[in-house]
Amino acid sequence: MKRIDNIPKTMMAVRSHGPKDNRYEEIPVPEINEDEVLVKVEACGICAGDTKSYQGAAMFWGGGVLPPWTKVPVVAGHEFIGEVVAIGDNAAKKHKLKVGDRAIAEQIVPCGECRFCKSGEYWMCQHQNIHGHQGEVADGGMAQYMKYGPNDTVHKVPKHIPAEHAAMIEPLSCSVHTIERAKIKMNDVVVVAGMGPIGLCKIQYAKLKSPKMVIAIDINPKRLEVAKKLGVDVVINPKECDAVQAVLDLTDGYGCDVYINSTGHPSGVIQGLQMVRKLGTFVEFGVFSKETSVDWSIIGDRKEMTIYGAHISGRDGYEIAIRTLADGLIRVDDIVTHKFPLKDWEEAFALQADGKESIKVVLIP
Ligand SMILES: [Zn+2]
Ligand SMILES: [Zn+2]
Repeated sequence: MKRIDNIPKTMMAVRSHGPKDNRYEEIPVPEINEDEVLVKVEACGICAGDTKSYQGAAMFWGGGVLPPWTKVPVVAGHEFIGEVVAIGDNAAKKHKLKVGDRAIAEQIVPCGECRFCKSGEYWMCQHQNIHGHQGEVADGGMAQYMKYGPNDTVHKVPKHIPAEHAAMIEPLSCSVHTIERAKIKMNDVVVVAGMGPIGLCKIQYAKLKSPKMVIAIDINPKRLEVAKKLGVDVVINPKECDAVQAVLDLTDGYGCDVYINSTGHPSGVIQGLQMVRKLGTFVEFGVFSKETSVDWSIIGDRKEMTIYGAHISGRDGYEIAIRTLADGLIRVDDIVTHKFPLKDWEEAFALQADGKESIKVVLIP
């Protein structure tokens, strides 16, 4: 075990105790063993999921057909980055890390036992323990210190990336994973709907694939401005025009080759099915708060579409996210709009949930 000298016994953390019950409180700094890593958290982004969980959404707390998933009390946050302050000898060997390095753990803590973990598809682990949602097993990064456990997938991160930008590695990894599902070809017209933090990463990664055109759709003009700045070819605001017609006009009436839904709204699905060309590809990433009804005959009988789902990311997405961010191939300086000290979490959560002024809000413990 190697450790720095002055690690305190207690720390401040934002812990969830239930729906609408987050508390800024003093708790013990996690103890680690020879297979584990302790990091001092440098930054932790607030995910839409964090604000939805705080507001009591059924996907976290159960309801309808959904079982409860969150285990409280749990330190919130899965968009963290930290500096190693203590590391067990086995962990140091396994992750090729030492005290003083910057490191990230992937958001999922794989069980290592289920068929998905065994086949390397651990991001779909049957148990879905995600940092920030299952107390003890997978506490999160909204705290001064955090433990990366024996089953965590840990990556070293270059230190020249500003901490609040490194907190975007997790959302960027999801973006990489989703875009890879789309199998973009150089002659493709690609539409990404929903210019949240992840959508704004997706357009940049899609551009790196050098397709014919990348189109961004959102109803927020400010976010479309950022999309333009980040190099998207065309922006469409469905509040100002018929988005489906606009895409048909840009593609000789055929429709786009690839549609990536990064909105959590039913309209994102419906317009996508309408604007994809025959034999085109639709990738669904959104998390919805209500059901979507569509006529499925458009998928088979009328268009013979290919539909993919996308959920978080594994090693592939993280490695590319770290490299593209470190090399400046993907920029997040216009995406990370606000920084707050951890104690002001409530104001930060409200600003993230509102989303009119903010895109990504990051907490600094
Ligand atoms: Zn997230
Ligand atoms: Zn598993």
